[in-house]
Amino acid sequence: MADIIKLLPDHVANQIAAGEVVQRPASVVKELMENAIDAGSTSIKLIIKDGGKTLIQVVDNGVGMSETDARLSFERHATSKISSAQDLFNLETKGFRGEALASIAAIAHVDMQTRTADNEVGTHLKIEGSKIVSQDVVATPKGTSISVKNLFFNIPARRNFLKSNQVELRHITDEFHRVAMVHPDVEFHFYNNGSEIFNLPSTKYRQRIVHVFGSKMEHRLVPVNEETEVVKVSGFICKPEFAKKSRGEQFFFANNRFIKSPYLHHAVVAAFEGLIKSDTYPGYFLFLDVDPSSIDINIHPTKTEVKFDDENTLYAILRSTIKHSLGQFNVAPVLDFDHDPNLDTPYSYKEKGAVIPKVTVDATFNPFQETSAKKNTGSSFRKQSTKGWEDLYEGLGNQHDNHEFSSVVIESESEEQGTLYTGEDAEEHMAGTFQLRRKYVVSTVRSGMLVIHQNRAHERILFEKFLGEITVKEGVSQQLLFPLELTFNKQELAILNEIKDSLTNIGFAFQSLEEETVKVTGVPMMVPESGIGTVLDRLMADYMEGYADGSISQAEMLAKALSRNLAVRTGDVLDQESQLMLVNNLFACKEPTLSPFQKITYTIISEGDIDKKFN
Ligand code: ADP
Ligand code: MG
Repeated sequence: MADIIKLLPDHVANQIAAGEVVQRPASVVKELMENAIDAGSTSIKLIIKDGGKTLIQVVDNGVGMSETDARLSFERHATSKISSAQDLFNLETKGFRGEALASIAAIAHVDMQTRTADNEVGTHLKIEGSKIVSQDVVATPKGTSISVKNLFFNIPARRNFLKSNQVELRHITDEFHRVAMVHPDVEFHFYNNGSEIFNLPSTKYRQRIVHVFGSKMEHRLVPVNEETEVVKVSGFICKPEFAKKSRGEQFFFANNRFIKSPYLHHAVVAAFEGLIKSDTYPGYFLFLDVDPSSIDINIHPTKTEVKFDDENTLYAILRSTIKHSLGQFNVAPVLDFDHDPNLDTPYSYKEKGAVIPKVTVDATFNPFQETSAKKNTGSSFRKQSTKGWEDLYEGLGNQHDNHEFSSVVIESESEEQGTLYTGEDAEEHMAGTFQLRRKYVVSTVRSGMLVIHQNRAHERILFEKFLGEITVKEGVSQQLLFPLELTFNKQELAILNEIKDSLTNIGFAFQSLEEETVKVTGVPMMVPESGIGTVLDRLMADYMEGYADGSISQAEMLAKALSRNLAVRTGDVLDQESQLMLVNNLFACKEPTLSPFQKITYTIISEGDIDKKFN
C-alpha cells in the first residue's frame, strides 16, 4: 500500500505552530516584548494600529542581531537562549522555544531592522508568509525594531475570528501590563493609533503599579514580604476595602514571568476571608521567586501555565504571608457583611416571652420613583400593562386550557376587576398586594395566589426599560448640580469610552472621558448620587465578564448589568405603591416570566393547590 502520510510543507507546518503561539494580536505583542526584554533593553516602545490588526511594532534598544542571526532568528527552533534540554531547568530568559518569530513570520508581513553595538550598519529584512522578500543594509540605531503587519493575511478564517479593535486592544494592554509590571527598571512607551497611552519611566515596583493602574493605587497598596527556603514572596496586595467586583488587578509573577494559577489565587482569597464580600476579588501584585529547577514552564506554548514542585507548601506560605501583612498593616478589622444587627438577640432576652414585633416600614422608600420620567410614559405604560396581562392569559390559557385563567387579574378591594389597568391611580388598589419575607410580593388572582420574586421581577422590568432606552436613546437624565469627580485608570477609561454612547442614551452625562479624573454631570433617574461610583464600577466589571462569553450585544450586556445592579434586592422593604408597580410593570414586560438571567420571576399557586393542603 502506498504511503499516504507526507511531511507537511514548511509554510503549513508553520501555520500549525502559529496556531498555538499566535492566537491574536496580543500574542504577538507578548512574544515581541519578551524578546526585547531578553535582549537586555532599557527602553521599549510598543506601537499599535487598529487593535494590532494593521500594525504591531516593538522597538527596543537591546543587543540587536548580526546579519546571520537576523536571518536565522526566523527559522523554527532557532534560538540563542538555550542549547541543551538541561537548560530548560535553569531558565533566566522569557523565550526558549525559538519558535515565536518563525510562527509570526508565517502568518504576517514582518519588517525587521536590527543592529548590534559593534556593527556600523544594521540589517533590514522583509518577510512575508515565511519567505524573505528583501534584505538590505540599513542605517539604524542599536537595537531591534520589528513590525508585524496584516496579521493572519493568509488565514482569513482566523482574521475574521478576531474581535473588535477595542477588544483586541484590551488583550494587548493586558499583555503590556504583564511585561511592564515585572520590569519597572525598563522604560516603556505604548502608542495606539498615533496617541501615547502609556509612558512609563524607569522606576521601582510600587511606582510602576501606580503608573500603570492610576494614582488611586497609591494609598491602596500594602507591601508583602517573606523569605523562606522554598520561596521568596514580595509585592503588594490591595487593602480589603478596595476589593473589586471585577477580576483584573490580580497578578502573579513567578521568576519574573506572569503566570496564571487558580490554586495560588485561592490561597490569596483565603487570606482575605472574612474581610471582603464573597462576590468581590482582592487586588494583588505578587512576585514569587523560586529555585528555577523547582518550576516547570514548559508545559504550554504561551508559558502562562506553570507547574511548581511543591504547590501545597507554596499555598500555605502565601496564605499566611498575606494574612500577616493584612494584620501588620492593621487593615484587617473584623467585618461581617452578611450580619444584620436587627437579628441580634441580647442574651437576657432569651428567657423572655415572645411579643409581636413592631413592624416599621420606611414609607418614603420607593425604588420605582422616577418623578418626571414616569409622567411622560404614564399613559402608554398602562396600555402596555393590559397587553401584558393579555399575553399572560393567552400563554397560560393555551397551556392549561383552563377557563379560570381567563380572568387572571388582581382582585382589588373594590371588587372592580380590571380597573387597575384602565387609568386609575395606583393608590386606590393598595390593598391588593403584600410583601412576604422581604423577598416576594404576593397578590391574589382569580385562579389563586400570585407570588412574585421581587428581585428577579425588578431585574426583568429594568432590563427591558434600559434595553429600550439604549436603543431608542430616550433615557431621562438627572443633572447634577455639582459635577461628581471620579477617578479611573486607563483600562477603565477605555471601557467607559467603549460604552459611552449607551451610557449617554440611558441618561449618564460626562464632561470628558480623556483624563483619569472624569466629571460626571448627569445620571439616570434611577441612580442615586451617592451610588454613581459603585454603579459604574460594577457596570464595568459585569460588562467585562459579559465580554468573555461574547455572544450578546453591547446593549443587552449593559442592560443586564444595569438591571442587576439597580434592581431592588431580597431584603429590601417595598411600600404598597412599589409593590403594585412591580406587579404592573412586570406584566407590562415582553417576557415577564423570566429574569434577564433566565430565572423564574413569578409563580401562581392555584386554588386547587391550596385546597389540597386542607384535605
Ligand atoms: P526565543 O525567544 O524562544 O529564542 P524567538 O523566535 O522569539 O525565540 O527568537 C529567536 C531568536 O532571535 C532569539 O533567541 C534571539 O536570539 C533573537 N531575537 C529575537 N528578538 C530579538 C530582539 N528584539 N533583540 C535581539 N535578538 C532577538
Ligand atoms: Mg522569543
